[in-house]
Amino acid sequence: SLEARHISLSYGSTEVLKDVNIRIEPGEFFALLGPSGSGKSTLLRLIAGFNQHQRGELLIDGKDITGTPPHLRNVGMVFQNYALWPHMTVWDNVAFGLVERKEPKESLRRKVAAALELVGLQDYAQRRPSQLSGGQQQRVALARTVVIEPKLLLLDEPLSNLDKNLRVQMREELKNLQRTLGLTTIFVTHDQEEAMTTADRMAVLDKGVLQQVGTAAALFDFPANRFVASFVGTAN
Ligand code: ATP
Ligand code: MG
Repeated sequence: SLEARHISLSYGSTEVLKDVNIRIEPGEFFALLGPSGSGKSTLLRLIAGFNQHQRGELLIDGKDITGTPPHLRNVGMVFQNYALWPHMTVWDNVAFGLVERKEPKESLRRKVAAALELVGLQDYAQRRPSQLSGGQQQRVALARTVVIEPKLLLLDEPLSNLDKNLRVQMREELKNLQRTLGLTTIFVTHDQEEAMTTADRMAVLDKGVLQQVGTAAALFDFPANRFVASFVGTAN
């Protein structure tokens, strides 16, 4: 499980996350919703270890990981802009995290091949990111993240650059992948429909404050306030 307790984070004098409390269960697909600038990416980066909070505790399986560096957290993150290495092939992009972890050659080969097959890109291993479509790049980013077998998968609007059709298709694929691997996943989106159709539970963030956490049905039927109501689409 992942637990955030009373997490606050400021950039200078601007408080971006305010007393965030959240608990995510093993195997859960959790959506984080909120408008632009509400602090979604900041919260994910904090969980991955790229941002430091000033107050509160962050626990994985009950253990405080505040001081643990990113590569030792067993957390995989797909960034908002994918952040693939442009000078490396698809194969090397996917292998990168395993090389970093000094994975033996033979199992590295096996794991990279399996990850590429999982996302249907086994025939694209020798291409570079610039020779792929947006959707294919998105799959590389996903393969690169799941290949390290993370305990926790963080997805920061991984579908935002795709057209509507591909988006719906990738959404299904993501969900299957998550189910197959039993991955605990936090999925950031500002598309309420996407959250409603994929997530076990969701949270709505506004100006760094968690407004409500619950199932799609709970948020839809019993929104905690006007903001949640308008955001999940029940108001007006
Ligand atoms: P979006 O939906 O546009 O991706 P978001 O919810 O992910 O938005 P964040 O990227 O978490 O929002 O940003 C939250 C707030 O923190 C914004 O006001 C942003 O300008 C500010 N911010 C983010 N990173 C920094 C930084 N490194 N230094 C100062 N302020 C920052
Ligand atoms: Mg963001």
